[in-house]
Amino acid sequence: MDSSKKHDVLFKGLKMKIHGTNNITASLLNAYCICSRKAWLMSRNIGINYDESNLVIGKYIDETSYLRQKKSILIENMRIDLLKKLDGISIICEIKKSSISEKAAIIQIVYYLYRFREYGISVKGELLIPWERKSKSIKLDNKFIKELKESVQDLNSVINRSSPPEFKINRYCRRCAYHDFCFI
Ligand code: SF4
Repeated sequence: MDSSKKHDVLFKGLKMKIHGTNNITASLLNAYCICSRKAWLMSRNIGINYDESNLVIGKYIDETSYLRQKKSILIENMRIDLLKKLDGISIICEIKKSSISEKAAIIQIVYYLYRFREYGISVKGELLIPWERKSKSIKLDNKFIKELKESVQDLNSVINRSSPPEFKINRYCRRCAYHDFCFI
């Protein structure tokens, strides 16, 4: 059986059951770590305006990187960028264009690892930034779990607000999908 089929078998039949995160997705969590206002807007699908140059860069990276590994796997509400296997261990990878939002990418990976652990599946995580030739291994530990739970709790209170958090300019605004919404 080739490795991609093994991964398919491994993840077959997964059911979502993480506690207290039913409305939470990895993308929302990532957005929250960048800007709570962004997470609120994203939770309501408001005013998305993707920068076309970013989309082109993302597509280029997707088409030219890690060609031999299985890519973009959708498992319930988790879209895993890349799945690979090393020494019998499955590694879920998140691919980013740059390390500008590294912390947000790491919490996203931690979320995946936690979800998989809840399913009884042991996996490792890896952040890949091909254009910077950078990679970082992520292993689920108590510190990350604590951080994840606190973030999920805060995120839940953000998305349950009736209005978005106040606009505060930050270093991510220039590349943000909600740039026009906030600045016009
Ligand atoms: S443009 Fe800036 S303030 Fe507005 S959602 Fe994006 S990061 Fe947040």
